[in-house]
Parts: sequence; structure tokens; C-alpha cells
Amino acid sequence: MNGQFFISLLNPGIGLLFATAFFLLWLNRRERYVAYAAAAYTASALAFLIQDVGPVLPMELQRLPANLGFLATGMFFAAAIIKRYALPIPWRPMAITTAVSITVFLWFLLVHPSIAARILAISIGAGIIASMVVIALWPIEKRHLIDRVLFWVAAFSALNLIIRPVVLLSLGGGFDNYVGFQQSVYWTTVQFSQAMVSIVAAISLMVAVAIDQIAELRRAADDDDLSGLLNRRGFEAQASAALRRCHEDARPVALMIADLDHFKRVNDNHGHAVGDAIIAAFGAHVRAIGPAAMIAGRIGGEEFALLVPGAGIEAARQLAEAVRTGLQAACADRIPAKLCPTASLGIAVGAPGTTLSALMQEADQALYEAKRTGRNRVRTYTPKPVRFAASCS
Ligand code: GH3
Ligand code: MG
Ligand code: MG
Repeated sequence: MNGQFFISLLNPGIGLLFATAFFLLWLNRRERYVAYAAAAYTASALAFLIQDVGPVLPMELQRLPANLGFLATGMFFAAAIIKRYALPIPWRPMAITTAVSITVFLWFLLVHPSIAARILAISIGAGIIASMVVIALWPIEKRHLIDRVLFWVAAFSALNLIIRPVVLLSLGGGFDNYVGFQQSVYWTTVQFSQAMVSIVAAISLMVAVAIDQIAELRRAADDDDLSGLLNRRGFEAQASAALRRCHEDARPVALMIADLDHFKRVNDNHGHAVGDAIIAAFGAHVRAIGPAAMIAGRIGGEEFALLVPGAGIEAARQLAEAVRTGLQAACADRIPAKLCPTASLGIAVGAPGTTLSALMQEADQALYEAKRTGRNRVRTYTPKPVRFAASCS
């Protein structure tokens, strides 16, 4: 047993370790891209095992599955990264690249034996597959550091796979036999650089899984499942931040609070499920007609708040009227025909420096006014005139 043998165990060991880790992660988080990562590391471990420490098979029997394994590693790894962004996985171009690589490989194994040409065929094939990740990720917005890391891991892999064999083979020449190949500087470089890329890629993907999990928990904590809007917590957090930005940029901002009318009666007469359907329809309706920058939440049982950055009093009133008048049609296919749900809305516009809670109180007062004056209407908050107390002398 020599040092080379232990280096040979490096990649199968890393592969099995990360395959197990990604498999355990997948059990916890049934995301397809995590499963692809587990498959990539399994393929990598098997390929290196067959190549270096596998049973001594006839050469063709050993090299073919080993190199298929390397290309499968590339494909699964590419699939893992691309799937994380919900982009279409280029299975067909990857399969064609693999088929071409293997055909060239077999040609230089059986017809014109050349170890150097076989290395180029497999390594460049894997490099082209890595380039497909680079091409897929190129146009998307890389918002987080981890998005840029994944992109650069793919770009570095592509360059490493395409340029390394060309450079090393031109420096060191070809190989006469596999013993020479396996003890060569080339193969040691492959094993080490592959081990490094494997570790960096696995850690990056695991960080990506952790970030996705945190984002999902945050979403779950801030969202209201029934209406599809934010819940009170999520609304207050996002609306406070948006309000602050509007004040900083000296932009107008409006807040409206909507409350479904006589909702207790709707529930009592038609059942809770119909009430729920109206809440869901209201959420969908508001999202459909509101501007993209609007922050909308269900802040109580049948009470909603909408913060509209950039909206002055007139724009807010128009939106509130559109919410009110469109509610019936928005609910139509979900509730009994004779039921006509209505909503009352109160609007307040944000004076510079107003806090969210002050703005909500004002909108609430306007809503109270809308209820008091007959419901199914929109009212705007008007500050009470300031009265000066007569001074006693
Ligand atoms: P008003 O016009 O004055 O707002 O009358 P209201 O009946 O809508 O108001 P009230 O506050 O008396 O009742 C609100 C009702 O909303 C009581 C409750 O049964 C219903 N509600 C609250 N949350 C939900 C929910 O998640 N689903 C359903 N179906 N009903 C809900
Ligand atoms: Mg109500
Ligand atoms: Mg209410």
C-alpha cells in the first residue's frame, strides 16, 4: 500500500460522505435539487471507486462505467444547481454531450488506443455540462452571495475541466499505460482539484439548502394561508419598512383598512366554509388589482390592511373603490349565487413622519365612519379641526 492508494480513497470518501449528508437532508426536505445533489455525490464516489480501487476488471469493463459515472456526476450536479432556481434542466443537451463523449472515448479505447485522447473526451464533455449551468444561471438575478458562489463554482468547474487536461497533457505529454497514468502528476492533480471542487460545491449547496429553509420558515411565519396575503406580523414588518422608505424618499403613501360587512351573519347563514371562500377570494382579488409595490395583509379575522407606496389620496380612493365594487365578481364562482358579500374601507394618507400604528388608527377611524354611515362604502380619514380652548383669565 502506498501514498497513492490513500489519495485514491479521498474522492470516494468525500463522495460517500456528502451523498449521505444530502440524502439525510433530502429526507428532511423533499426538494428535488437536494436529491440530485445526493445522486451526484453517489455517482462521483462510485466512479472514483471503480477507477482507482475497484476490482481489477478487464480495462474496458472498468473504464467505461467509471467514465460514465464521471459524466453522470456532472449531469446530476448541473441538475441540482439548475433545479434550485426552478429553471428547466437541459437533460437532452446533457445526454447528447455524454453520448458524444462516450463515443469518442470508446473510439480511443478500442479503435485508436490513446489515454490522452480519452482524458480529453471525458473531461471536455464534463466541462461542457458544467458550462450549461453557467449558461442557465447567467441571466438570472443573483441576489444573495450564495447565488454568486454557486455560479462561480460552476464556472470554475467548467474552466477546470476544459483547460486543465489541455494544459497538463501538453506539458507532460501522453501516457503509455494506465500504471503510468495513475501515478502521474496529471491524475494526482485531477484527484486533488476534484476533491477541492467537491468540498466547495457541497458546502455551497448545503448553505443554499439552509438559506432556502430559513426563507421558507420566514415566509410561513409571515404569510396567511387562507387569503394568500401576509398575516398581521408579516404586514406590520413589511409595511413599517415601506413606510420608512416612503418618508425617506418624500413619496406619498396611503393605507387602507377593509372589513367585510356583516360577516358573522354570512357565516351563520351560509356556513364557515363559505365565509372562508370569501376571505380567500378577497385576498386573490386584492392581489390581482393592486399595484406590485402594494403590501397587503389579513390583520384580523375578516379585516385587511393595504399599504400602497406612491399613492396619494386620489389613487388610494380609486383602488379602494375598485376593491369594493369588484368583490362581488371576484367571489362569484366560489359562493351561493344569492349571496352578495360587501366590504367597507377606510383610507388614511401618510403625513411625513407618521408611524404605522398612527396611520392604522386613522384608517380605522375612517373605516368606522364607513360602517356607521351604512357599510359597503369607502371613507377617508379627515383630521378633526383643532379647537383652541378659551383661555380663562
Ligand atoms: P361588521 O359589518 O360590523 O364588520 O359586522 P361583522 O359581522 O362582520 O363583524 P363582527 O366583528 O361582529 O364579526 C366578525 C365575524 O367574522 C365573526 C367571525 O365568525 C368571522 N370570522 C373571523 N375570522 C374568520 C375566518 O377565518 N373564517 C370565517 N369563515 N369567518 C371568520
Ligand atoms: Mg366585519
Ligand atoms: Mg371586523
